[in-house]
Amino acid sequence: MNQVNSGDTDRSPPFRVRFWGVRGSYPTADPSTLVVGGNTSCVEVMVAGRRLIFDAGTGIIPLGKELCDRASSPPTAYVFLSHTHIDHVMGLCFFEPLQTSKAHSFILGPGDTHGALTRSLRHLTHSHLFPVSLDELKGKKEIFSLAGGEVIRFRSRGKRPKIGGNRTTNGADTNEVVVTTFKSPAHPRNGVMLYRVYYRDKSVVYATDIEQQEGGYPEIIEFVRGSDLLIHDAQYLHEEYFSRAKPRKGWGHSTLDMAIDVAKKAEVKRLVLFHHEPTHDDKTMRKIEKQAKQLFRSSVVAYQGMEIALR
Ligand SMILES: [Zn+2]
Ligand SMILES: [Zn+2]
Repeated sequence: MNQVNSGDTDRSPPFRVRFWGVRGSYPTADPSTLVVGGNTSCVEVMVAGRRLIFDAGTGIIPLGKELCDRASSPPTAYVFLSHTHIDHVMGLCFFEPLQTSKAHSFILGPGDTHGALTRSLRHLTHSHLFPVSLDELKGKKEIFSLAGGEVIRFRSRGKRPKIGGNRTTNGADTNEVVVTTFKSPAHPRNGVMLYRVYYRDKSVVYATDIEQQEGGYPEIIEFVRGSDLLIHDAQYLHEEYFSRAKPRKGWGHSTLDMAIDVAKKAEVKRLVLFHHEPTHDDKTMRKIEKQAKQLFRSSVVAYQGMEIALR
């Protein structure tokens, strides 16, 4: 895959996005998939000295290790979950800050009522599935259920984020880091949360596990509008989605064309195709990237280890 503004420079920009897991549905270890990478969803956004993590697929495992190895004191992590399907939370129990005394994790994600997200996550550590319960994990953790429409702001290190009520502004051009949320029903069965991170005049949208309708959902296009970087589900090829033998309509994921359609209509500056179908090998992904660039020049296939700097 093409390299995109990779690595630190001596004058690192305040907004950087790093991909730790880009695979949808389940992890892959087949040698034919290793260029794009096999870890499931996890994206790190480093902004104004803060580290925000989107999803806790297997990609969060090496990220957690790096966080703990590098930190001179136990780290603070902000983890935003799109939803709790297994490929988005399967790395959580192995996230080193959750296993480290005095490390502090704030976990935010969709939940209809107070405590709903905690109850969902407790299933992960049921004694039949994992030997240590959520409460027994040594790291300090605070879990927040989100309904959608929130505006989230950050205070000093170690303090819980400030979660505001209904979004009345799109948060643009802010001098502090702001995350806004949008809950979409377009993913079976409980929908999915989309996130937009703002800082100064830049913004990044994380929109995985979303099945667009033809022409895109207008409310999602509005949520995404004008962003500098859109990370969007593009799991299927058009021919797979509309296949007669095995149609994927209703499975909760978009095609490449759907993602591009939304990117164009929302006038985003760059599109990252994400949540790759696990049966797509590196050769297929190269073809997908070529096809995508013909339709929308500023698009790229996400691969594990890819880093994008917003300038
Ligand atoms: Zn998924
Ligand atoms: Zn899902």
